[in-house]
Amino acid sequence: MWWNWVVMKLETALTFIRDIPDYPKPGILFKDITPLLANPEAFGVVVDAFAADVKSSDIVAGIEARGFIFAAAIAAQTNRGFVPFRKSGKLPYKTYGAKYGLEYGDDEIEVHVDSFSDGKIITIVDDVLATGGTLCAALELAERAGAKVESVLVLFEIAGLGGREQISAKFPNVEIRSLVTS
Ligand code: AMP
Repeated sequence: MWWNWVVMKLETALTFIRDIPDYPKPGILFKDITPLLANPEAFGVVVDAFAADVKSSDIVAGIEARGFIFAAAIAAQTNRGFVPFRKSGKLPYKTYGAKYGLEYGDDEIEVHVDSFSDGKIITIVDDVLATGGTLCAALELAERAGAKVESVLVLFEIAGLGGREQISAKFPNVEIRSLVTS
């Protein structure tokens, strides 16, 4: 049928993100991406939009866990390597680690020390930008591991929490792209 060839618009794809009030704590409006992932057209359109923003990067890095889903798909689509930033204690080789606060708690992420050897240019991907603590930790680790971060890509930016400002203050040369801003 001819309509099978009509590509879903990005703005339609983004409507598949579901709001869950008071999860995982009262007062948090959780952005649930699972309906978007479950829809093949919506997922494909979002990965295509992200892929168009990967320019000089050698590596697409993702932040555990939801950042992995997009970063791995973008890496495969753009013929780049994928590198995981994982929660502490999960990576088997030598790591750099950084602690950070997020919208609903504290956490720590790690990356293998040799992930970006030879000064790799990288793009870092996550699902949501809230306070910016997670991405600042990833950016700090990337720099310690020798990467040059070209850009940060997020699906959803919660603008009122100052994440973009925090990242830009600490990493002024990193471009921040979000597909949708609240
Ligand atoms: P932050 O470090 O505060 O920018 O928080 C971003 C990280 O926490 C991302 O890895 C998100 O997966 C998660 N996160 C924070 N706030 C939300 C939210 N309202 N909905 C979904 N995920 C969130």
